[in-house]
This record gives sequence, C-alpha cells and structure tokens, in this order.
Amino acid sequence: MNSTSSKDSIDATVRGHHLLCLLAFESTQQYGEFASAFASMKALYLSPDSTFEVVVGNDDACAVCDYYSKEVGCTSPEDGPEPRVRSLDEMVLGILGMKPGIWKTREIHSRLSTLTPQRTDSVCGHCPWHLSGGCSKRLFDSIGKL
Ligand code: SF4
Repeated sequence: MNSTSSKDSIDATVRGHHLLCLLAFESTQQYGEFASAFASMKALYLSPDSTFEVVVGNDDACAVCDYYSKEVGCTSPEDGPEPRVRSLDEMVLGILGMKPGIWKTREIHSRLSTLTPQRTDSVCGHCPWHLSGGCSKRLFDSIGKL
C-alpha cells in the first residue's frame, strides 16, 4: 500500500528515523520541551488513527531541539550533521518499504510488524542510544503491543 493522498488533518511531521526512535523512547529518559514533544508524537504514533507527514528532513521534534539550526539542520555531535541524519531517515524508510508522504499510522504499524532486530541493528548500530542498551528491546516491545 502506498501513502494516503490527502494532506488534510496532519497530526505530526515525523522524519524517517524517528519512526523507530519514537517507539524506543521512554518519557522518563529525558525532560524538557524536546521530551514533551517526543512524548506527544509517540502518543499519536501509538494510535492507529493518526496521520503523519513522513519526511526526510527536520520534523516536529527537530523544531524544539537544541541541536536544530535553521541554516544547516541537525548539528548534534552524535546524530548529525544533517546529511548523515537524512541518510538515516532514508535507511529507515527503506527497511519499512516506505516513501516520504502522508501516512496513516495504521499503515506504518503494519510495516513495523515485518521488522526484525537484525534489520534494525543494521540501521541503528551506530546510535549512542542503541549502544547504551535496551533500545532494541523497547522498540520491539512497543511494536509487539501495536
Ligand atoms: S538531534 Fe538532530 S535529528 Fe535529532 S531531533 Fe535534534 S535536530 Fe532533529
């Protein structure tokens, strides 16, 4: 199935790699505006009836992130620079068989169910959150509850 065609009623704009990060995120891990935005996005994601604009580029989380620059995008020393993050967005969309566009979350959920830890490790293997442990378990625990 392809992305839905309407841009009406978009609940959130989400960059590709955050489709995995959001599911592994726990609101107790971080505090502040970014964590609040991520928690809100995750709540929308867990609902099958939300509508996401999926992008390769900055999203609603980046908009409140201390590392986001309007000029160059992501400046995080761990995740950036922006071209690297966009490559990660594309890799995650690739393993989900998705393209940027408007998606109902239930459509994304069905694609998540096809993932394996081996496939996500191939994309997330470099990430400090992943390397700190527990991320993959939280991700697949969340997928199992969708
Ligand atoms: S670290 Fe970079 S990719 Fe992640 S939310 Fe911040 S600006 Fe966006």
